[in-house]
Amino acid sequence: MKTKSSILFEKAEQYIPGGVNSPVRAGKAVGITPLFIDRADGCFLWDVDGNQYVDYVCSWGPLILGHAHETVIEAIKKQAVCGTSYGAPTALELEMAKMIADMVPSIDMVRFVNSGTEATMSAIRLARGITGRDNIVKFDGCYHGHADSLLVSAGSGIATLGIPGSPGVSKDIAKHTISLPYNDLDAVYKTFSRFGRDIAAIIVEPIPGNMGVIVPDMEFLKGIRKITKEYESLLIFDEVITGFRVGRGGAQELFGIMPDITCLGKIIGGGLPVGAYGGNKEIMMNVSPAGNIYQAGTLSGNPLAMIAGITTLKILNEDGVYRKLERLGSTLFSGLKTAAEKAGIPVTINHIGSMGSMFFTEGPVYDFNSANKSDTERFRSYYKGMLNKGVYLAPSPFESTFVSLAHTQEVIQTTIDAAMSVMSSLMQD
Ligand SMILES: *Cc1c(COP(=O)(O)O)cnc(C)c1O
Repeated sequence: MKTKSSILFEKAEQYIPGGVNSPVRAGKAVGITPLFIDRADGCFLWDVDGNQYVDYVCSWGPLILGHAHETVIEAIKKQAVCGTSYGAPTALELEMAKMIADMVPSIDMVRFVNSGTEATMSAIRLARGITGRDNIVKFDGCYHGHADSLLVSAGSGIATLGIPGSPGVSKDIAKHTISLPYNDLDAVYKTFSRFGRDIAAIIVEPIPGNMGVIVPDMEFLKGIRKITKEYESLLIFDEVITGFRVGRGGAQELFGIMPDITCLGKIIGGGLPVGAYGGNKEIMMNVSPAGNIYQAGTLSGNPLAMIAGITTLKILNEDGVYRKLERLGSTLFSGLKTAAEKAGIPVTINHIGSMGSMFFTEGPVYDFNSANKSDTERFRSYYKGMLNKGVYLAPSPFESTFVSLAHTQEVIQTTIDAAMSVMSSLMQD
């Protein structure tokens, strides 16, 4: 019998390309048709067929408090009756900007946009505008949203000039993006010694979360900070995932390395669409109308998104929140590791606080090329097994697993038990 989800999916495919509004949701990497979600509460999701799942996707990162957090929902309701958008300044934008400036060490001023993509795209424009240079450096396997100049994969060759990562990205744009291997400082030095004076910025995920979670080499991050200063290029930290995830001040505070521009998104919207980019006053005063580098948005600073964000950040400011997230993350990821060991399945588990990922491969995974060696066939079976046991994971081995404050030690233990049983059945096949 067909499930309601699969019937909806068939219909959706007639009206929406691929039946989804963001490709990875389609579940192609694991060979499933997507679940259509009916509702969610805390760490649980229910699909339209009435099945319950423990959710480790958390809307791909934003829902650090879990679904439908009572305080956030109340705040949204209260604002909604006063209007959903004015296209004029509000005190909420000011409150939110001040909170971000207080919490993120390198940010004095911030501009709100509507997605992470807009944040990185605008940050790149700002860096190009300030330096008067066109080229940017990114790293293989880092995802910075779908703006043209960032949809570039340049293979792993050192200082290969960018080739478009998607049809429709013009060669003229792609050629200004240089993509280098992550954690490879030597490649950065070589590139800067050749093109350094033409490079506007390095953009980097300080903790990559889009090729699975990769733990950065501190010397690498310190090195790119140093070399960008030396060549008067800017350093952009894309903290769209890590901002307010790995700590109040993001990865920059955790590591004590300050970027020139920070991109935020996901968590700061409290489940509504928001992005932001910020930096010190000198840098941000270049953004129009204070400066001449143009950037705008009809719904930017939207009051519903602002109140959801403010309410979320206030809760994240309470004592012990990040310690709790760290404990929950440790339980989950060390439990998964033990489960794999008991089943005799080789895995590498990387995690920082409440974000992590599991590669079905032996040996440390430190960049996109080694992440690519993960056994996707095995992941597929594991994914389906876990789904059958009521555990909802991201349908790709290259996406992070997220734990929220709504997950409990007990729920996580049931997930570990499920993993133990799924992994031992994998070994029997
Ligand atoms: C999700 C993500 C983006 C893009 O954000 P959207 O809101 O999906 O446009 C950019 N950078 C990183 C690191 C992300 O994880």
